Amino acid sequence: MYTLGIESTAHTFGVGISDDEKIIANERDTLKPASGGIIPREAAQHHFKFAPEILKRALDKSGLKLKDIDLFAFSQGPGIIPSLKVGAQLSTFLSKKYNKKLIGVNHCIAHLEIARLYTKLNDPVMLYVSGGNTQIITYYNGTYIVFGETQDIGVGNLIDKIGRRLNIPFPAGPKIEELARKSRHYIEMPYSIKGMDVSFSGIETFISRLIGKEKIEDISFSLQETIFSMLIEASERAMSYCLKDSLVITGGVAANKRLNEMGEKMCKDRNASFKAIPMEFAGDNGAMIAYTGYLMRDYMQKDLAIKPRFRTDTVEIKYR
Ligand code: AMP
Ligand code: MG
Repeated sequence: MYTLGIESTAHTFGVGISDDEKIIANERDTLKPASGGIIPREAAQHHFKFAPEILKRALDKSGLKLKDIDLFAFSQGPGIIPSLKVGAQLSTFLSKKYNKKLIGVNHCIAHLEIARLYTKLNDPVMLYVSGGNTQIITYYNGTYIVFGETQDIGVGNLIDKIGRRLNIPFPAGPKIEELARKSRHYIEMPYSIKGMDVSFSGIETFISRLIGKEKIEDISFSLQETIFSMLIEASERAMSYCLKDSLVITGGVAANKRLNEMGEKMCKDRNASFKAIPMEFAGDNGAMIAYTGYLMRDYMQKDLAIKPRFRTDTVEIKYR
């Protein structure tokens, strides 16, 4: 069964195609603003502009024509409204034109399903760290529960905001990582875990006062050590509480070596398995939407509207 999935929740427009459980195409383009952050209208314009090319590239890669597709899927949310609309409209049009079923997929759950597929870890705790999202998700009794999450901004967003203050262009993650590697001097920073949740805005304010007074390498190092410790602590608590023996880290921030090192060490200490997912599937992509759409193929879905604030824990998981 061929499923075509469209991802357009934020800065990335992606089209993936799966043949049952196998990914046979995964094409995308990401908006990279010359300066500043992502402006919703510009993201939607980017997606409109690139949609025909990305769709064609995915079909060429798979050797299929649109009429061969059995099922269409799109990312229903959470995300930015103008961006979400592009994927929703395109997939609705295609499913009507070719008279095939349309499935709306929760973006965060799609990250988890593709992680399960590629790491072969059946029931992990997932630390999902991207620009807009920071969640610790795991399966429990027919739903994916959000065990912990950010109470304010996503961890990638924090890194990018601090990057902007330090004159590092978006995305700042790789440069901050490189700077952090040059320091071993830890500056104490606000460490804010509230219950299972984390909060980052206090650190942003705190760091804004250090700029010009402390070395940029020391700020980067201390920032990473603080926020990654918070995330790994919350992940460990989720593993312990939910009796799960594996962890996956995914999302754009999962590219960070230090974060993976900390995750791996924590898992080793508690005799658990740790696996990073292939980078191709860590950031936003269409393949994860196609694959999750395929898993949901027998669902009846009444509501196919976009859901900018779509909660992971409101989806009933019937295929597990
Ligand atoms: P996503 O929204 O999943 O595409 O992830 C993008 C976010 O990942 C941006 O906020 C980047 O700054 C961040 N990011 C990318 N590479 C790294 C890295 N090596 N270390 C930390 N954050 C990173
Ligand atoms: Mg994402």
